[in-house]
Amino acid sequence: MAEELEHVKCLIIGSGPAGYTAAIYAARADLKPVMITGMQMGGQLTSTTDVENFPGYPGGVMGPEMMEDFRKQAERFGTDIRFGYVSSVDFSGPVHKVVVDENKTILADTVIVSTGASAKWLGLPSEEKYNGFGVSACAVCDGFFFKNQEVVIVGAGDTAAEEATYLAKLCTKVTMLVRRDEFRASKAMVHRVLNTPNIEILYNTETKEIIGNGQTVTAVKVYNNLTKEEQEIPATGFFVAIGHKPNTDIFKDWLKMDEVGYIITHPDSTATDIEGVFVCGDAQDKIYRQAVTAAGTGCMAALEAERYLAAKEYQE
Ligand code: NDP
Repeated sequence: MAEELEHVKCLIIGSGPAGYTAAIYAARADLKPVMITGMQMGGQLTSTTDVENFPGYPGGVMGPEMMEDFRKQAERFGTDIRFGYVSSVDFSGPVHKVVVDENKTILADTVIVSTGASAKWLGLPSEEKYNGFGVSACAVCDGFFFKNQEVVIVGAGDTAAEEATYLAKLCTKVTMLVRRDEFRASKAMVHRVLNTPNIEILYNTETKEIIGNGQTVTAVKVYNNLTKEEQEIPATGFFVAIGHKPNTDIFKDWLKMDEVGYIITHPDSTATDIEGVFVCGDAQDKIYRQAVTAAGTGCMAALEAERYLAAKEYQE
């Protein structure tokens, strides 16, 4: 006889601010949520240092510590948190099938997708070495630590343009590395960059190496890809803004996505075209990508899952 599959009311995939917030709300609504954490338990914030912009921590908090607080709060109300990863899903029926670690299938009445996104990196060893010690992929998170200092930012899309203007308000000088002879960003954003006096743009320029003193960044070595000339730019911060990749590959046969892989939810909602599947956090947000906005949509997803289940029960 086949073993009976585990059947849960609410399955949450991912353990960043969106997932944990969904868990807190779902657990308090007695949905008995089960969370599959993903391989980086706690999500992107576990690889950052100080977080100073999350409300409720007046003195700031370390990213990993904050995610521990989220976890404890989700557990306090009974969330069943399991370390593992979701290897595939089947959203074809009224009850959703989620395969964990390639071998265990869980049936779920509602699924909350909070798998987040990962920043793209250049892939240089020196970039990895100084990550968190001068190298960052989030100007809004880390720009403040470089107040009145000189920084370099790489990228030419809307994110890079937005982050360069953000950094220009804090830093004495921002050098922007654009690998082609033009921006990808929208005209309005480029206009803002070009009209910010303390942003210097180096076109046709790529990063060769991030230079440091073993502890922090001191300069960035760049080269012009036409002339092959190299130069060293003094800087204490190096910001990478070359795009993000949402962690949504396993959903591509089931959920509508844009060309990059951000899942498309209904307006003002976390609902998708599949009944009972809700998406929150960076898996669906390419604009704000903040812990606090992810937490906000996590709350929305849990409330929507609860309402969906209540309506279903009423119909039955
Ligand atoms: P994009 O993919 O739009 O841009 C990435 C940029 O990084 C490109 O300019 C690309 O160069 C450059 N790049 C990629 N790889 C490298 C590399 N190895 N070395 C140097 N440069 C590199 O990503 P964004 O994050 O900027 O934007 C993602 C989406 O989000 C876009 O649709 C954007 O419009 C949207 N967005 C909207 C905002 C808003 O409306 N306020 C704010 C932020 C984002 P190249 O051009 O040569 O390919």
